[in-house]
Amino acid sequence: MDCIFCKIANGLIKVDFLYEDDKVVAFRDINPVAPQHVLIVPKKHIESVMNLQEEDFSLVGHIFKVAQKISNDLGISENGFRIVNNCGTAGGQTVMHIHFHLLGGRDMQWPPG
Ligand code: 5GP
Repeated sequence: MDCIFCKIANGLIKVDFLYEDDKVVAFRDINPVAPQHVLIVPKKHIESVMNLQEEDFSLVGHIFKVAQKISNDLGISENGFRIVNNCGTAGGQTVMHIHFHLLGGRDMQWPPG
């Protein structure tokens, strides 16, 4: 298992989880770009959006439900926040295990760079 997010999600590398259930974990990004920057990561190794199979789409819905909960827990749901998925190299993906960034605590700019 040579995937950093597999190691984190399966407890081989210890990080503080903001949330965990049987399908996903959530933890703070090591290099935050917002006051609140959380990564929501499925335990199942899926490389990117382009590798999602039919049976995985309910997992994506679950990730958004977890994002809703975490944004409430962090107190960023009222002002608003951003959910980002980078897909593939040109999309800015650097860790090839699908994940969703939850960004909040400041005003976001649009369009992103
Ligand atoms: P991507 O660029 O693939 O969309 O996002 C990967 C994110 O994972 C980056 O924001 C990066 O800072 C974060 N990251 C990479 N390695 C680690 C790690 O070992 N621990 C944590 N907490 N975050 C990481």
